[in-house]
Amino acid sequence: MKSWNKSRTAAITTRSSVRENGLKVCMAASTGAHPAWMAKKYPDILRVDYEGRKHKFGGRHNSCPNSPTYRKYAPLLAKKLAERYKGYDNIVAWHISNEFGGECYCENCEKAFRTWLREKYHNLDALNTAWNTTFWGHTFYEWDEIVLPDLRSEHFDGERTMFQGISIDYRRFMSDAILSCYVLERDAIKAVIPNAAVTTNLMGFYKPLDYFKWAKEMDFVSWDNYPANGDNYTKIAMPHDLMRGTGAQEPFALMEQTPSCQNWQPYNALKRPNVMRLCFIW
Ligand SMILES: [Zn+2]
Repeated sequence: MKSWNKSRTAAITTRSSVRENGLKVCMAASTGAHPAWMAKKYPDILRVDYEGRKHKFGGRHNSCPNSPTYRKYAPLLAKKLAERYKGYDNIVAWHISNEFGGECYCENCEKAFRTWLREKYHNLDALNTAWNTTFWGHTFYEWDEIVLPDLRSEHFDGERTMFQGISIDYRRFMSDAILSCYVLERDAIKAVIPNAAVTTNLMGFYKPLDYFKWAKEMDFVSWDNYPANGDNYTKIAMPHDLMRGTGAQEPFALMEQTPSCQNWQPYNALKRPNVMRLCFIW
């Protein structure tokens, strides 16, 4: 009991003296998961998956990017945090959400998809030509005839499709929709702290998001590196190279890695001494 009290006291002392001890902080905006009360009160924030199932509360990375609730409250929380911590000169960067990704097939996303398509193609003739909709009778005559390419619209699965044009545009749309959420939070922080350095953690070769487009909206690129045991060093080096490239050859930050184990890998290899330090590229 005595030793527990001692360690607990030490932890509290450490927590309360981050700034006093000159430690630098990358402040996260806390929006990577919505709370249970919000899912109950505003069900539009819950995603619909590829099979058309409306999700219940749980997990993280679970907010619909076109939910009015999410798009209102996520930047509001980021703004409140910025207002509270704007005087902390040891905060060197701000971090939006966490590992943005996933997809949603809800009705709000379907409406937003049509808006995105109108802005891209301007008229249905151009869209029908680009998508080669004469194939299997897919021609569209009204914008609201277009539905999201999920299992309910007879697509093979999330990775394979029988209607390529709409599938690739849905991916581009979803990347833009999620990116717009990042931008909302980034701008909310910058409205309070104009010179804040804002980023989010990318995931190497994660395919669903167009990281080249994302990097243009980030003050610096950062990413999470979790090599599996036995990975060839070239497989680890290549995403580092990609991250540098997405930032137009600018330096990037390694936002996440672990010195030993991750709870989601079947087994892990300990890093040799000083290998952690090797990985920091700034
Ligand atoms: Zn949605």
